[in-house]
This record gives sequence, structure tokens and C-alpha cells, in this order.
Amino acid sequence: MFPMAKTKIVVIGGGSGASLVHNLLSSIDASKHTLTLISPHPYSVFMVATARMTVTSEGSLEDSALLPYDGLTKRGVKFVQGRVSRVFDGVVNLESGDNVKYDYLVVATGSSWEGPINFPDGDVRVKEHISRWREKFASASRVVVIGGGSVGTELASEVKHHYPNSSVTIVHASNFLLNDTYPARFRKSLTARVQKHGVKLVLGDRLTAPAEGERRATTTNGLTLEADLFITCRGGHPNTSILKTLDPSILTPSGHVKVLPTLQIPLNNGKTNVYAMGDIIDWKEQHMFTKAKAHKVVITKNIVAQLNGSNPPAKYKGYMEAIAVTIGPNAGRSYMPVLFGIVLGDWVTKSLKSAGLLVAQGRQWIGL
Ligand SMILES: Cc1cc2nc3c(=O)[nH]c(=O)nc-3n(C[C@H](O)[C@H](O)[C@H](O)COP(=O)(O)OP(=O)(O)OC[C@H]3O[C@@H](n4cnc5c(N)ncnc54)[C@H](O)[C@@H]3O)c2cc1C
Repeated sequence: MFPMAKTKIVVIGGGSGASLVHNLLSSIDASKHTLTLISPHPYSVFMVATARMTVTSEGSLEDSALLPYDGLTKRGVKFVQGRVSRVFDGVVNLESGDNVKYDYLVVATGSSWEGPINFPDGDVRVKEHISRWREKFASASRVVVIGGGSVGTELASEVKHHYPNSSVTIVHASNFLLNDTYPARFRKSLTARVQKHGVKLVLGDRLTAPAEGERRATTTNGLTLEADLFITCRGGHPNTSILKTLDPSILTPSGHVKVLPTLQIPLNNGKTNVYAMGDIIDWKEQHMFTKAKAHKVVITKNIVAQLNGSNPPAKYKGYMEAIAVTIGPNAGRSYMPVLFGIVLGDWVTKSLKSAGLLVAQGRQWIGL
């Protein structure tokens, strides 16, 4: 008699996807199922730490925030280093030409970014990218960051902290930093603290970065800004083009993936074995790691139920819009949507996030 074939669970994307794999490891029977993680780097690039990591060598974040998958592979997870090019029913194609078959698939491919946090594939190229950006910031005396969302604000504040003599400016379309997900009271407090940190703000205005090497650009309102570096931080774009071959109807015009509350992708062929999580899902929420942590709990329960022959019982109901924004390693502002909404200052935000950038939690999430 032949042994029963194991059920193949495949996860694409080693950010929050890796923490899902860690969760699944404790919930499935390894004698019956296999877990495979596919991602282009030999480690998880812990995005929360990347604004500081690409600005300064202080703290050597490349040693602690590029998180190896050892905690997963030592427990039997198969790690495939590579980039998926296309997804089909039951199989994914890699750019290398290899194929990986799946019975259950979770897509957690995150966002692509511009500038310093747009990491290339592969270890050597990631390290070169980090060094190159650190050199760029060290030699720039004027930096303009386009976009005052949380990432742009954190990046500009890091530059000002590590290079206090440089001129750092954020251009942002609204009259306060961030967007209207958060109350005006919090946004005003953050905006004032960033100004006190020494970052100049051009608010209620827009700018398009000039061509590479050009040092001058004019905003929509006619203000001309000169800089050695113009960095666009307009938010991430979901990495979902690989899903067009599976079912183009599951993608929204913005490129997000439609999901049911069970976080299954509603496929035209009626199959129920493909899930999505993290930044790529079409859900009215600010895409954050904290949300992906909630997604992984739902997906783990649902895959385990399906493996046991039941319908997926867990539903994602959204998660509170709390946020902590760093202003360098010693300051920041946080918002908790409890009671009438609580705004927290430097001391709390420093201990919550600014000092350690959640790296210890990130390591724990993937079993390190
Ligand atoms: C500077 C900064 C600060 C942040 N601070 C916070 C914070 O304080 N709190 C918070 O909750 N969130 C924060 N976030 C947001 C958080 O990092 C993201 O929401 C989170 O990383 C999303 O997880 P993800 O798995 O969807 O995407 P990612 O973490 O980006 O992981 C996606 C993975 O998929 C891989 N991938 C992409 N395409 C393919 C492909 N075709 N084949 C194989 N693999 C692929 C990528 O290489 C990557 O490894 C911050 C982000 C930044 C940039």
C-alpha cells in the first residue's frame, strides 16, 4: 500500500506570511501536511525597521531586522527562495522556471514601495541597497520627502535625527500629517511635534519628484524646492499581478485582492482553497502589521477546519485603527481609539516603538 500523499500548504511572501507559517506549525499535524514558504530574500525584511535601517548604520539594524527563517525551517518548513511569477489552480510558477504545487495557498505578497524601502531581491543586493542609501543620506544636505503618511513622516524624522544639520522637508497634500482615518487632535499633535523636531512642512500642496539627478522641483501651489534627494513616499502598491492568471476578476482597480470575511479569495471556479492576507487585501483599513496579525489568526483557524473536513468558521471583522509614529528613536506620537481616543506622547511612543522599532516582536512572530 502507498502512504497517503501529504496535503501541501504553500504561503507566498515572507513578511506576515512567515508569521502565519509559524502559527500554522503549531496547529497542523506535520505527519499529514507540508508547509512551504516562498519569498525572494533569505530572510524576512522587517518593514517597520526599514526607515531607520536605510538612513543610518547606527544600531546595525541589518543584523537584527533581517529576520532569518531558521525558527521555521528547523521545524520542518520548506523555504523556497524565489519570486513567484504566476499563480494557477493548484500550482505556482517561479521566475526561476520551477513550479510548486499546492492544495491550500495563502498569498501575502505585501506592497511595493519607492525609494529607500524598495528592496531588490537577494541578500547581496539588499545589503548593497542599504549601504547605498546610507551613503546618499550622509552626503545630502537637503532632503525632500514627498508624502506625509506614516512612512514619509518616519523617514524624514530619521534623516533629521541622524543628520541634524541637513534641511529636511515633507510635502503633504493635507493640512496635517497622515490621513483622515485618524482624528484631527492626533494629527495636529503629530504635526507640531515633527516641526519641533526640525522637519520643515509644506502642507496642503503636492509635488512630483523631478527626474533623477535634478535638484529643483515646483509644487502645485508654485513653491520651488531645491534638494539633493527627492524621495517619494506615497504609500505602497499591492503586489498582486501574479494573481491575474488565477482569476483576473478577483483584483480591484487599485490592485487589491477581493476577500470574503473568511479571508478566502472568491474564485470564479468555486474553489475555496486560496486565501490572502496583509497589505494586499481589499478591506477598508489602514494596511499594517497589526492587521496582518489578526488576519493570520482567522486564516489558521479556517485552514485547520478545512483540513478536518469542516467549513471555515472564522471571520475577519476588522481591527482597531491604532497607530504609533516614530519621530526618530526618542520621540513620536501614538493614537489609541479607545474611550474618546487617546493621544500618547514621546515617552510612551518611544517605549512602544521608536526605540526598538518592534524588532523583538517581529523576531518572536516568526519563532526566533
Ligand atoms: C517604515 C515602516 C514602518 C511601519 N510601521 C508599522 C507599525 O508601527 N505598525 C504596523 O502594524 N505596521 C507598520 N508598517 C506596515 C507593515 O510593515 C506592513 O503592513 C506589513 O509589513 C505588511 O505585511 P505583508 O506581509 O502584507 O507585506 P510585507 O511585510 O511587505 O511582506 C511581503 C513579502 O512578500 C514578498 N513577495 C512580494 N512579491 C512576491 C512574489 N511575487 N513572490 C514571492 N514573494 C513575494 C516580499 O518580498 C516580502 O517578503 C510599517 C511599514 C513601514 C514601511
